[in-house]
Amino acid sequence: MAKQLDADACSVYLTETDLRHLQLQATIGLDRNAVGRVRLPPGEGLVGHAAKEGHPIAFTDAQGHDAYRYFPETGEERYASLAAAPLIVRGSESNRGLTIGVLVVQTLEERVFSQDDLGLLDTCARLIAPVVMNSQLLAVVSGSTDDRARITKELGEAGLHPRTSPGETERGVEIHGIPTSRGIAIGPVYFMDDSVDLDRIDYTPNPDPDIEWADLSGALEDSRRELDGLRGDLGDRFGAEFGAIFNTHIQMLEDKGFVAKLETGVRNTGSALAGLTHVLDEYAQTFAAIEDPYFQERGSDVQEVGQRVIARLLGLRHQAAQLGEGSVVVASNLLPAHFALLDPEKVTAIVSEHGGPTSHGAIFARALEIPAVTGAAGVLETVRSGEEVIVDGDSGRVFLSPDDSLRAEYQRAQQRAQVALEHLDALADRPAETWDGHRVRLTANVGLLSDLRLCERHGAEGVGLFRTELLALVHRGFPSEDEQQQLYEGAAQAMSPRPVTIRTLDLGGDKAIPNLQVEEEENPQLGWRSIRLSLSHLDGFRAQLRAILRASAVGNVRILLPMVSQLDELRRVYEIIDETKHELRRRGMPFDPNVPIGIMIEVPSAAVTADVLARECDFFSIGTNDLTQYTLAVDRGNERVAHLYDSLHPAVLCLIDHSVRAAARANIPISLCGEMANDPLAVPILVGLGLGELSGVAGAIPVVKEIVRSLDMGEAVSDARQALDAESPSDVHAIGARRLEEAGLLDHPDIGDWLRRSIERS
Ligand code: PEP
Ligand code: MG
Repeated sequence: MAKQLDADACSVYLTETDLRHLQLQATIGLDRNAVGRVRLPPGEGLVGHAAKEGHPIAFTDAQGHDAYRYFPETGEERYASLAAAPLIVRGSESNRGLTIGVLVVQTLEERVFSQDDLGLLDTCARLIAPVVMNSQLLAVVSGSTDDRARITKELGEAGLHPRTSPGETERGVEIHGIPTSRGIAIGPVYFMDDSVDLDRIDYTPNPDPDIEWADLSGALEDSRRELDGLRGDLGDRFGAEFGAIFNTHIQMLEDKGFVAKLETGVRNTGSALAGLTHVLDEYAQTFAAIEDPYFQERGSDVQEVGQRVIARLLGLRHQAAQLGEGSVVVASNLLPAHFALLDPEKVTAIVSEHGGPTSHGAIFARALEIPAVTGAAGVLETVRSGEEVIVDGDSGRVFLSPDDSLRAEYQRAQQRAQVALEHLDALADRPAETWDGHRVRLTANVGLLSDLRLCERHGAEGVGLFRTELLALVHRGFPSEDEQQQLYEGAAQAMSPRPVTIRTLDLGGDKAIPNLQVEEEENPQLGWRSIRLSLSHLDGFRAQLRAILRASAVGNVRILLPMVSQLDELRRVYEIIDETKHELRRRGMPFDPNVPIGIMIEVPSAAVTADVLARECDFFSIGTNDLTQYTLAVDRGNERVAHLYDSLHPAVLCLIDHSVRAAARANIPISLCGEMANDPLAVPILVGLGLGELSGVAGAIPVVKEIVRSLDMGEAVSDARQALDAESPSDVHAIGARRLEEAGLLDHPDIGDWLRRSIERS
């Protein structure tokens, strides 16, 4: 409609439950955060004036009118003219009608609205009014029972019988998305909408293309400077790798190819805006055409950079958003920039319409332990600013305006989880040992330096697995040797004297990075990945080894090699490490000459030949995520065969057992760092198999510790023996469940709930 009327903003104000005060309920063009906040007393403002008049009116110089009321939160000072038509509903028994709101259009330029314009606006208002009525928008602002009774009476007198009945004002809408970051949050919605709607922009290019290009170049430079500032700010607040998220955006703005394309676009179209949007569309289409979700998500990077440059070009400001404590941020996409623009302390949860759990925003949300749901289709349209919502990051559900009983249920769950966590964290210093004194080391898997904060909070006894490829994914390419060295050293220092096990890059398979041109393969999981890739990208591999070795000077670093499938690979790596050490000595750079070098046991050949491998390395770490997929021939990322993927399969347990025995014979330490290490049903069996270290998600450590402390080693060993002889994975699940029950853990005040749910799901 705004388009038909050639207007720049269109808004709907509705009456509150008193049927008199008007409240801004929807808008295109004004700041959406003003929705639900701007309130006009009866008859006040131009909007109230239109409601009182009962027919459409127009104001060419709206701000010059006596009745004009200014609300800064709407950002409406940009608009010169305004036309408004009341929303009137008429029942069959009466033609008195009832005004339930006002439809408003505004224009940036001064405009004299014609009678035809007002006629069109009035027709729209007549069409909208019953829809508003029927969708019960009148009940948006929940009032007291008295209010509702009075409203129903007044509507009845106007011949209207709304479907709303007292007590039915709650919306109770439920939206499903992807569970992206665990936890429950309840809070008011804060819209994070910083995109520029291109359809609504009236951009007149300068006739001189040189000036257009100069404007765009200036906007590119401003954006680059702005991003540089954000990078520094974010880096200061959360660590360098958070800031590094903007590297790609900055690189894109500096990319000669991108800039050249823009210049051609501007010269071809004669317009900076048209040239820019043309190039952005081209990039967006290229990304959208690639099936890999990781690459598709990179398309959002291009859009984000594009929006920033457009805003600069048009002289708009990306506002540093102001939000209240405990807000649920609702956005189109979960972007890293949000963490720079918002104060994460105030964000209680994040919900995004688009995006998946592998996006960088998602990684940040998890690292900061902020519950998040992504891919929540329809959330932007449905949710209202300020509306209360429940975000369930465990199930991916979002409840809008929950009723009292649902809210109370979730508040209880939230409190239980909180109390349990605090209680368990307070006991973080207790050792993880069975009640008959068998000690198990509980370490954490980390990917970003900021995860170390959680290691402290949850009492991790070291880092069992540092997935360095996350840094490469964040950087969209290999970080430099110095950048890597600083990060590894930072981790080693932060954890010292506890060990930090740094795994060399484990790229390929499902972990692709755009800058690394890896040809498509028929079977990427069986292909050129991980250590195989490192051994054929020797420059990058050497740089990483130098970085790890330099960090090893701190004294607590271990090197872990992924996906080793035969001894020759290990021997080749030793040659390269020896050369690297030699080089560092020559350059006078300190390192730990005895840095332990271990291998992941994650392919069956390594497990089966563990005795041979154990003789030539310093430790083993079993990667059950991959070991399960390769042993059972079940792709770990394919949901069609997900029902067959089970690390508690007796075949996987046999390979674990074989590896543990080989490690014991060679007298080297062995740990397990797959997801299985967090699985409550698996813990008794893994302890019984003799694993001395379990490395998993930091947040799960307190729960795993409670389980370990409830075990008797003799019983755990007997459980493990039974599990090895079991006929099926479900028999093994039953063994694990029985142990948790017999240990009395299902009634545990802190973790009982969680364990029962794990057993139900298994
Ligand atoms: C594993 O395979 O179990 C493992 C820990 O490594 P990733 O999940 O990174 O492949
Ligand atoms: Mg693996």
